Amino acid sequence: MPNTIAYLDVLWAEVSQSHLTINYARRTGNSSGYKLEALELALGGTDPETAEIWVQKLLDHSYGSSKRQKRLKVLVNPFSGPGKSLKKYQCVVEPIFKAARCTVEMVETQHQGHADEMMRNLDITAWDAVVCCSGDGLPHEVFNGLAKRPDAKHALASIAVAQLPCGSGNGMCCSILGTSNLSLAALYVVKGSQQPLDLVSVTQGQTRMLSFLSQNCGMIAECDLATEQLRFLGRYRFIVGFFQRLILQPRYPCDVALCVDVTPSEELCVEKACTDEESNDIDFSQSPHQGLPPLRFGTINQPVPAGWEVFRHESLSIFYGGKLSYMDAGSKIFPQARIDDGHVDVVRVEANVPRATKLRVFAKIGDGSYAENMAVDYRKLVAYRFIPRGKDGYVSIDGERVPFEAFQVEVHDGLGLTLRRPENAVADLP
Ligand code: ADP
Ligand code: MG
Repeated sequence: MPNTIAYLDVLWAEVSQSHLTINYARRTGNSSGYKLEALELALGGTDPETAEIWVQKLLDHSYGSSKRQKRLKVLVNPFSGPGKSLKKYQCVVEPIFKAARCTVEMVETQHQGHADEMMRNLDITAWDAVVCCSGDGLPHEVFNGLAKRPDAKHALASIAVAQLPCGSGNGMCCSILGTSNLSLAALYVVKGSQQPLDLVSVTQGQTRMLSFLSQNCGMIAECDLATEQLRFLGRYRFIVGFFQRLILQPRYPCDVALCVDVTPSEELCVEKACTDEESNDIDFSQSPHQGLPPLRFGTINQPVPAGWEVFRHESLSIFYGGKLSYMDAGSKIFPQARIDDGHVDVVRVEANVPRATKLRVFAKIGDGSYAENMAVDYRKLVAYRFIPRGKDGYVSIDGERVPFEAFQVEVHDGLGLTLRRPENAVADLP
């Protein structure tokens, strides 16, 4: 029997005729994180009513303000990372959810776009959270599926989206739950309270989509998307991709326009311009995005709004926009990112930076201190535009490949909902 059980680790407690049972997760101290155990105590002379009062107090302390017995719609992507998500879900995650008496319905995604389809018809009153056992690709689909509903704003604000680390990129889990350990993350979902999060709109060509994590073009996008054939390596494929490109030193000419902030009067002007039908080039009455908030800065097909700072880059190496801190456990690309600060952070690195400097920068990505290097331009913005000048290349939104074309981004304050790490839990990432 353990000496103490932390409130955080208590999953459930109940009274039967003669016993009181406490289900809890015991920390193992190794990489597996937690082991599930049950403590049975004989009631002895205590009457069941008194024991029940004690149990309710224990659960109050253990759950705080977070909802007990959450109703979880679980999506498992069998294609994520090295392809072991289903097994990980069954062996690690499901037992924790069951021990906490959560209501769980699991669906294995059958193809790309399946999660998006499911979210368009989901009964949002039936679930507290959609939990993705995947990389960042599935939450991207979930947010975008919800975005296509006529009640998009309401749906995005009412159902929490969480990710459990089963993919090659687990930025959402690392950034929001502060861990890349699967059992810890599952425990945090059980114990987590609702937390609004900013989402960004990305317009590209005639499309509009939501992004919750990153927009990436240049060397780092290639390290991810051009290494699909190394999927079996899990997250190490990024590192292999990086060293290949460190040798080749590719250059990405592009134009960039950045909007640092808007004064309320400028905002009014831009909003007026963008609701004017003649200037609104994407016909949103025909698009599935009527439920989303209007775009304050128009779309990529309109002129660059006044006041934006324009840069012509002849040879950029890295262009990276992000809304969350970690792209994975070892990559804190946006150390100043805050989940709900109304900003998107943008990093730029020129190609003519010496290889040795690039290596030094790369070596300090783990804790985000790379951003202090003079070679790195780091800014907090409310909107931006990226226009590649080359013909071929890679653009990724939340790790998913999109056409190699210009795009424009703007932040929506607190449009989405997630589950935050419980207050008594400490992040295990730097
Ligand atoms: P990873 O981190 O390994 O990239 P993700 O969860 O981000 O994993 O998913 C990668 C892609 O897999 C996403 O585009 C997603 O839509 C797609 N996907 C989902 N289910 C399936 C499936 N059954 N077969 C193939 N691809 C799928
Ligand atoms: Mg992915």
